[in-house]
Amino acid sequence: MVIAIDGPSGSGKTSTAKLLAKKLCYYYCDSGSLYRAVTYFLLAKDVDLKKSIDINSALKDLKINYDVKKNLITLNDINVTQYLREDSITNNVSRVSSVSSVRNFLISIQRDLADYQNIIVDGRDIGTTVFPNADFKFFIDAEVEVRARRRFNEFLECNIKKDYKEVLEMIKNRDSYDENRKNSPLRRAQDAIYIDNSDMGLEEQVLKIINYIK
Ligand code: C5P
Repeated sequence: MVIAIDGPSGSGKTSTAKLLAKKLCYYYCDSGSLYRAVTYFLLAKDVDLKKSIDINSALKDLKINYDVKKNLITLNDINVTQYLREDSITNNVSRVSSVSSVRNFLISIQRDLADYQNIIVDGRDIGTTVFPNADFKFFIDAEVEVRARRRFNEFLECNIKKDYKEVLEMIKNRDSYDENRKNSPLRRAQDAIYIDNSDMGLEEQVLKIINYIK
């Protein structure tokens, strides 16, 4: 069984998917972390992110493993999970995720993960491209100001001071990159259930999804 959850940055899809996985006893795959891991790898290797050809050849040296039981990502057997939320990665990941070879590489990893287990996968193109035949599809959304406020508060909780306007701009930029790229842009699948959680708490939202599945 595959449950696909898509949505833009800050929509809360990751928290939703995690809680849902806990309640349903499913595994969970955060596909954004895979794109972040590839970005980490390319930055560490000093690859010019404007040159797809350089990215393509760098990928040949990359072995990536997503352990869904422990929620760990390794690159060539080194655990990089704790570095994936750093600003340098967040600021470059949308550029990397628009490259076809990166997408193809990661799509097959995501599909392999669903071969033998019930899984919830969250991302941008899960219901449209990675698992077009997913058993259930949801598209989680919220107003952009609400999403920026959530990210701003997450930074505050980690004692990172940011300007709200800067966070809002960052989210708008990422939305624009993700929605307008040629390869699997961020889109709601036609058969996905749309949930706007601008005025909804996490538990309420997860309950809504569980009721729908039941
Ligand atoms: O969800 P998260 O913010 O970690 O995603 C980071 C980036 O990875 C997104 O902005 C997007 O560019 C890319 N991504 C993607 N397709 C997915 C998941 C993430 O292109 N399925």
